[in-house]
Amino acid sequence: NPMAQPIGRHFLQIPGPTNVPEQVLRAMSAPTIDHRGPEFASLTLDLLEAVKPVFGTTQPVVIYPSSGTGAWEAALVNTLSPGDRVLAFETGHFATLWREMAQNLGLEVEFVPGDWRHGADPGAAAERLAADREHRIKAVCVVHNETSTGVTSRIAEIRRALDDAGHPALLLVDTISSLGSIDYRHDEWGVDVTISCSQKGLMLPPGLGFNAVSQKALRAGETAGLRRSYWDWEPILEANRRGFFHSTPATNLLYGLREALRLLDEEGLANVYARHLRHAEATRAAVRAWGLEVLCLDEREHSAALTAVVVPEGHDADKIRELILGSFNMSLGAGLGKLRGTVFRIGHLGHFNDVALAGTLSGVQMGLELAGVPIDQGGVAAALSVLTGKAGA
Ligand code: PLP
Repeated sequence: NPMAQPIGRHFLQIPGPTNVPEQVLRAMSAPTIDHRGPEFASLTLDLLEAVKPVFGTTQPVVIYPSSGTGAWEAALVNTLSPGDRVLAFETGHFATLWREMAQNLGLEVEFVPGDWRHGADPGAAAERLAADREHRIKAVCVVHNETSTGVTSRIAEIRRALDDAGHPALLLVDTISSLGSIDYRHDEWGVDVTISCSQKGLMLPPGLGFNAVSQKALRAGETAGLRRSYWDWEPILEANRRGFFHSTPATNLLYGLREALRLLDEEGLANVYARHLRHAEATRAAVRAWGLEVLCLDEREHSAALTAVVVPEGHDADKIRELILGSFNMSLGAGLGKLRGTVFRIGHLGHFNDVALAGTLSGVQMGLELAGVPIDQGGVAAALSVLTGKAGA
């Protein structure tokens, strides 16, 4: 029987926070500097440019000391007015939380129901937008990568639905678990606010929130009536022009961000995205060879950042995760909301490579076996064949 293994590195394979590279940890350990001094101004001015490619934008990016939830709120309060209607899609737990936030802020949410196994439906978006002849819908809110389900929505198709309907609503997109892992194009897809944070594909600890902002969103901000103060873009962008922030920034996280962006640039964003796709494909090969089900049901929407695995009837996904943590010192993601106990999630994003994936999947396979889940032993082998390019050979 396996023994608890407190030594060796912990495998943090939840879909964020993710493993932070040594180089990033070291960069963050530098002394904190004067956030109103010249050295800081040069850091900010460089960073505000360096962060743009990962969003696929040349427009401003606002950085907050916050979690992703804060960045959600910032996107809403900077662009909308009390009573405004927004169109949103029930893709899973996070989309549901974002709806709750919008309602708490006094917005009216038209929520397209979903089964938590598909992305936002571009057909449903087209229908709702076409039906809204008076243009009462002021924003369309989509979670790009639904972290609770491992399903990635097709943002370009949602954009097309807006364009085809000739609808002027803003497009707000949550890229919290996709940024830096999954191909994303703020400008090309005509996104008005892209929401993100530090602790997933950017390979940083939690603590930074982001809004990439279009000119249309900035204009909407001039008349948006929701109350805002800390989240207001205006004073931040104003201070940013001179290389500063209007309140104390998370200096050491910004050092980390500079280093993480350097690592992403060194690998090349196209290679980063290809690596994530390949690891996701290998993971699905393992799941299917085990004889288990991937939660995502649409081949076009499999997440490259994480995979949610459905546990067979009669087994508790949380017990399996507990057993894997206790036996192999590896953390996996829990089922969230209505998926509690019925799925576990394998994070394969961020600072990650082939051998780390092989280790992760080996831990899962051993855990499933120990938990008495009936599986075929070929899962890890199937994944390795994808990694070596020998699958189906
Ligand atoms: N949106 C998505 C897709 C997420 O995955 C998360 C967190 O995991 C959030 C929003 C909330 O972000 P945070 O927990 O950083 O506030």
